[in-house]
Amino acid sequence: MRPCQRQFRLQAQPPTLPPTQRKTQRKTRPRTLLWCFSAALLATVVAVGCATAPETGRSQLILMSPAQEAEMGLKAFTQLKREKPSIKSGKNADMIRRVGRRIAKVAPVEYADWEFVLFEDDTPNAFALPGGKVGVNSGILEITKTEAGLATVLAHEVGHVVARHGAERASQTLGLQALGVIADVALAQNAPGARQGVMQAYGIGAQVGVLLPYSRVHELEADELGLVYMARAGYDPREAIAFWERFQAYNRKQGGGKPPEFLSTHPLDDRRIAELRALLPRAQAEYARASNA
Ligand SMILES: [Zn+2]
Repeated sequence: MRPCQRQFRLQAQPPTLPPTQRKTQRKTRPRTLLWCFSAALLATVVAVGCATAPETGRSQLILMSPAQEAEMGLKAFTQLKREKPSIKSGKNADMIRRVGRRIAKVAPVEYADWEFVLFEDDTPNAFALPGGKVGVNSGILEITKTEAGLATVLAHEVGHVVARHGAERASQTLGLQALGVIADVALAQNAPGARQGVMQAYGIGAQVGVLLPYSRVHELEADELGLVYMARAGYDPREAIAFWERFQAYNRKQGGGKPPEFLSTHPLDDRRIAELRALLPRAQAEYARASNA
């Protein structure tokens, strides 16, 4: 049984009063009502909120449904495409769609309508929105170099979507406000506040294109999922280590000034590369299976 369900069961029994206090029960009715309201609220949170991250099995508290997330992701991506110039044809746009499709095929996401878009922007960057909307800036292709390098970036971003990190972050950080998001969504699918909350949670700030960092737990989990998915899609997972090392070298070449946006939102250190190396054996087994299939 998942921990959040167990916690609810423990609190689900009404408190029993000792006989001496029963006659004062009438006085405590407002408190009882408050308790009932809290229990109902908790039941709602539990009903909506229990989730488990795929592959890693980590318990998550998520206060919105995959369908609500997907709808908000679609709206945010539509707005982004209107405001940011994209490259629709040519070998790089084709490559992004081709590599993206291969990874999407092995990534289990409910309500996904995958779309992989190349944006015309020299800043090395990539991001993903719920519902399977992935954006890549042309500037990152200088560092990905190969299709396997690009697969590393796309699979990592897809990992954030599969594990619903944006919705989890919104649920964790917005707290009661997140409950308001559910209410907003339930009452009006177009609620701008709810949409903005999800956009921010997924790293798209009020100003479109401004990325916010994920937590270390989310980054490592996206690395783990990304390695598995790229391997299942038939890309050598050792290329992920090579990509992150190239990114580190690129950052050093910039003179150690302001790091590229992707690095500032995906902080890279020796521990992270060491953790990726530790995950390699499982990913290589997946790669071997995919290659023999
Ligand atoms: Zn990430």
